[in-house]
Amino acid sequence: MTKLAQTLGLTEFQTEIVSTVRQFVDKEVIPTAQELEHADTYPQAIVDAMREMGLFGLMIPEEYGGLGESLLTYALCVEELARGWMSVSGVINTHFIVAYMIRQHGTDAQKSYYLPKMATGETRGAFSMSEPELGSDVAAIRTRAKDNGDGTYTIDGQKMWLTNGGSSTLVATLVRTDEGADKPHRNLTAFLVEKPSGFGEVVPGLTIPGKLDKLGYKGIDTTELIFDGYRAQATDILGEAPGQGFFQMMDGVEVGRVNVSARACGVGIRAFELAVRYAQQRSTFGKPIADHQAIAFQLAEMATKVEAAHLMMVNAARLKDSGERNDVAAGMAKYFASEVCAEVTQQSFRIHGGYGYSKEYEIERLMRDAPFLLIGEGTSEIQKNIISKRLLADYRV
Ligand SMILES: Cc1cc2nc3c(=O)[nH]c(=O)nc-3n(C[C@H](O)[C@H](O)[C@H](O)COP(=O)(O)OP(=O)(O)OC[C@H]3O[C@@H](n4cnc5c(N)ncnc54)[C@H](O)[C@@H]3O)c2cc1C
Repeated sequence: MTKLAQTLGLTEFQTEIVSTVRQFVDKEVIPTAQELEHADTYPQAIVDAMREMGLFGLMIPEEYGGLGESLLTYALCVEELARGWMSVSGVINTHFIVAYMIRQHGTDAQKSYYLPKMATGETRGAFSMSEPELGSDVAAIRTRAKDNGDGTYTIDGQKMWLTNGGSSTLVATLVRTDEGADKPHRNLTAFLVEKPSGFGEVVPGLTIPGKLDKLGYKGIDTTELIFDGYRAQATDILGEAPGQGFFQMMDGVEVGRVNVSARACGVGIRAFELAVRYAQQRSTFGKPIADHQAIAFQLAEMATKVEAAHLMMVNAARLKDSGERNDVAAGMAKYFASEVCAEVTQQSFRIHGGYGYSKEYEIERLMRDAPFLLIGEGTSEIQKNIISKRLLADYRV
């Protein structure tokens, strides 16, 4: 049988690891996801198994103890994980972005200190730009780091929506500093903030209040972060480069967009799998509903959309791996795949009839997870801004 989302031209290692992750998902994730998700329980056993498989260090260079794999390998593994449960892919997503940013922009000392511990999953990364008053408009960040003039900074302000905020031990945080630049985004600086995992005032001046209650994407912790006189060292600045935070974070978000499109593909594939199975099991008017053309055509539409999204995601990952600029490709892949995922989960839900509304059927979880992909790493409107700006520049009359 032809399966969806096959990728041509993979190396032997890529084929092997993607197939290992797929088997792991079928055996360990899919059978437990529903129960853990409904109870909003952190999937500790799954996370421990992912650590053992080396997934936390997939893209970290071998010299720092990682597997030194490409963005494509990472994205294909994420697609498989999200096929099982989107929250599980969320556990490694922010970690992967922070490790990528340190690899690309960190000083030698920061790379040597953080990357080996990140490769094993001992140190776990979270990524914080958003605040209660802003998400899309990153340049408007209000949290401020005041230079004390003695090699330290004092940070005050509130951050919002930290995926893995409680479970992480390293938060890459974008804050405002006074660089005297006329453009607001040139006054933004990324700090690497180390903390213990947990909730409450985990270190003096840094509080993680608790888990936010969400529609879906449950199991993993999404939190606020409050700085109140938190003391950071100048050496905690990513790359020790004040004023470069916006560009460093946007570089991280760009690979994050490939990752979100991979997640959307994974959720979409699962929604299709559930629909195609159910459509052959459920009969109405004397035949399986798959034999009604209206349903069969929906299956064809779903599969075509998912396949197209997968190809765009693979293209965006390969472009980044080749060193080419991929902002438009990543934006298009993220925009298209997340929209497709929302449509396909909705179609699968409809095919399930009334049972789609039951908490006993997996599709209800997918229906609650999919909308987040329209928002995270930049909404569809923001992707369209990025894509259209570049198109208008490239096609200037
Ligand atoms: C579960 C979850 C996890 C998250 N995890 C993280 C995380 O780990 N780290 C992090 O930093 N953030 C995280 N976020 C935040 C996320 O990135 C933001 O929610 C997102 O960027 C949108 O920002 P906003 O919510 O402030 O919406 P707003 O920016 O206020 O946008 C509101 C609406 O206006 C539209 N809009 C805004 N500006 C424009 C424009 N110029 N043109 C057209 N339309 C526009 C948007 O598309 C949207 O529809 C998370 C969010 C959620 C829900």
